Amino acid sequence: MKEIYLDYNATTPLDPRVFDAMIPFLKEMYHNPSSLYKNSKFTKSAIEESREKIASLIGASPKEIVFTGGGSESDNHAIKGTAFSLMEKGKHIITSSIEHHAVLNTCKFLEKIGFEVTYLPVNKHGIVDPESVRDAIRDDTILISIMYANNEIGTIEPINKIAEIAQENGILFHTDAVQAAGKIPIDVKDIGVDMLSLSAHKFYGPKGVGALYIRKKLRIDSLIHGGMQERGKRAGTENISGIVGAGKAAEIAINEHAVEKEKIKPLRDRLERELKKRIPDILINGHPEKRLYNTLNIAVKYVEGEGILTFLDFEGISVSSGSACASGSLDPSHVLLAIGVPVEHAHGSLRFSLGKYNTEDDVNKLIEVLPGIVEKLRFMSPLWKSNAV
Ligand SMILES: *Cc1c(COP(=O)(O)O)cnc(C)c1O
Repeated sequence: MKEIYLDYNATTPLDPRVFDAMIPFLKEMYHNPSSLYKNSKFTKSAIEESREKIASLIGASPKEIVFTGGGSESDNHAIKGTAFSLMEKGKHIITSSIEHHAVLNTCKFLEKIGFEVTYLPVNKHGIVDPESVRDAIRDDTILISIMYANNEIGTIEPINKIAEIAQENGILFHTDAVQAAGKIPIDVKDIGVDMLSLSAHKFYGPKGVGALYIRKKLRIDSLIHGGMQERGKRAGTENISGIVGAGKAAEIAINEHAVEKEKIKPLRDRLERELKKRIPDILINGHPEKRLYNTLNIAVKYVEGEGILTFLDFEGISVSSGSACASGSLDPSHVLLAIGVPVEHAHGSLRFSLGKYNTEDDVNKLIEVLPGIVEKLRFMSPLWKSNAV
């Protein structure tokens, strides 16, 4: 059975052109970029070309890009690096309650070693109110970290406004743009952000490689100490093939993101319309408009998301449920609870996230099978029987 993959926010397949660009650096071009013979000049310049491509994806200059081991490392670097370098000045950090765990658990760690963190609430659409950011600022606030777009519900945050507030108050601003990069045009100068995280495998690049934008002249502590790779900001022999893949993926995103959106958004919109029409008692989670064009998160009342996920899996359809992000645990998602979805409905949540390899047929298949699965599960559910009259 052919898989129907509808989980692009979890990870994307590698674009074949990215794969082709990477292969030489896994075979004959293996030379350490720090060495001095001519073959190492090739690998060194391949890294610098990739840096330029990543920089142009977000309107940065190449010197402002540090390659990392992925989105999680970029988030850790930005937050811990700022905390460690500014702890004399203050120990208060502001973030939101719907961040990715790479941000939330980094903040939790910092709390253990004496930092204080404010986790801002969001409204029912998942929006952080910029005024609540302003109100949370204290004399000892050193960092504001608010995500660009949420991975579970797709809500896009008012980060321009939040950046402005941070700037007015002389506080550093970091944004986790892992879900935005490659989907939405980003201009770091225009936003006025100090640090921005991205990850290649969320836009058809390889896993285990990401980047952190650090604004020119901003100095924060490093996480990985050692050699002088990445201008001393991230030691260790470079993941050359990964970095080349990330650069190629960025180049493709720059050239093709508009076309991809034209293709994906109508599919997502049709999926949303048809499911609303065919399945009674479902809720749409996330902002109706300020939302990633590929993401649809629904709460199916009176059933378990895990159950639906299993039946979809039998049909070859891969999606995420509302508890998948706390992987292994069946706790409902912190994001859904933060937007006020009642626990019992959060348990029945599903995330569909589409990408450029999805077709009309993929969406048709889902529209065709999901109503039946829900009906079957509801028929067996005591919750449904007591609610349906
Ligand atoms: C996937 C994701 C991350 C983590 O990125 P990795 O490259 O998997 O470490 C961080 N933040 C958001 C919003 C994500 O979607």
